[in-house]
Amino acid sequence: MSTNHNLHAGRRYSPGVLTGELVGDLYQLAKQKEFAIPGANVIGTNSINACLETAVAVNSPIMIQFSNSGAHFLAGKGLNNTDQKAAIVGAVAGAKYVHEVAEAYGAVVLLHTDHCSKEQLPWLDGLLEVNEDYFAKHGKPLFSSHMLDLSTEPLWDNLNLCKQYLARMAKINVFLEIELGVTGGEEDGVDNTGVAKSRLYTQPEEVALAYAELSKISPNFTIAAAFGNVHGVYKPGNVKLEPKILARSQELIQQQWSTGPKPVSFVFHGGSGSSREEIREAISYGVVKMNIDTDLQWAFWEGVKTFYEAKKDYLQGQIGNPEGADKPNKHYYDPRVWLRKAEENFKTRLIAACEDLNNLNTLALV
Ligand SMILES: [Zn+2]
Repeated sequence: MSTNHNLHAGRRYSPGVLTGELVGDLYQLAKQKEFAIPGANVIGTNSINACLETAVAVNSPIMIQFSNSGAHFLAGKGLNNTDQKAAIVGAVAGAKYVHEVAEAYGAVVLLHTDHCSKEQLPWLDGLLEVNEDYFAKHGKPLFSSHMLDLSTEPLWDNLNLCKQYLARMAKINVFLEIELGVTGGEEDGVDNTGVAKSRLYTQPEEVALAYAELSKISPNFTIAAAFGNVHGVYKPGNVKLEPKILARSQELIQQQWSTGPKPVSFVFHGGSGSSREEIREAISYGVVKMNIDTDLQWAFWEGVKTFYEAKKDYLQGQIGNPEGADKPNKHYYDPRVWLRKAEENFKTRLIAACEDLNNLNTLALV
């Protein structure tokens, strides 16, 4: 059984994209110091830049992630996605943009792709080919990690396929995120609002099995285990969070395999709408990353909405506002003006997520 990464004391996290051992180090540190990295879903340069600004503002790593349809959107909805080609091109273009710009900002980031179902495997296959080429040229992969979500498959099918991918990914230092149990709610066109409540809660025995099987291949994996979490934001009281499932899983593995404390690096999906107390409890049980999408979508829109409401009379035509019938409105409807408001509000919300996640001045700990 392979063991956890050891911390590499004094290792420098220089600006740019973290990959390989640095990612493992960061997750170990996260479990020791009880913080988690926000995984922010992005769809273009506006949301990417807001992530980069945030990373610098909080002096902490941010994970920039593309969903399947977010990657397609980034390349353009007008681009045909047959065989996942547009989603591959979009994720790669977005990743290359991040590599190019993150250093200029002085931002330390991780690059990740979100849920990939069995039907979407050509997407992951395409991305891994790009990573392999990139690794051959640069000695490191383009992405820090990818998610493979086979949670709707039978457990052993899920684990066997994850092991195959982990073996391929370990060769080029790419981390794998897997999913056990089902994240409820609806996101990115995947609707799990109707699944049986019991499936929203992973059994600790399933986590222990996944840990044992994946560890045979490589320690470079994280587990998104369902504990009642849902995608999206709904009325309170619909689903009950049971983060103690994560604690019980850690304890079981520690006993079974004589590991150190918190052997598993967990990922919290459906973080939007969760209270700080719930988030902090989950972190104390070994959550190293929390996805945040829905709340950032709202923040992006709210930035535009607030601006529109404040400047409504300047946004009804190209010419004519309360200052005169012949006054031009170019400085209000220029997309750079209102998209900047969206970026600023996205950044404000992401900084708040970093506060919830105890991810402030994290780079000072490294
Ligand atoms: Zn998710």
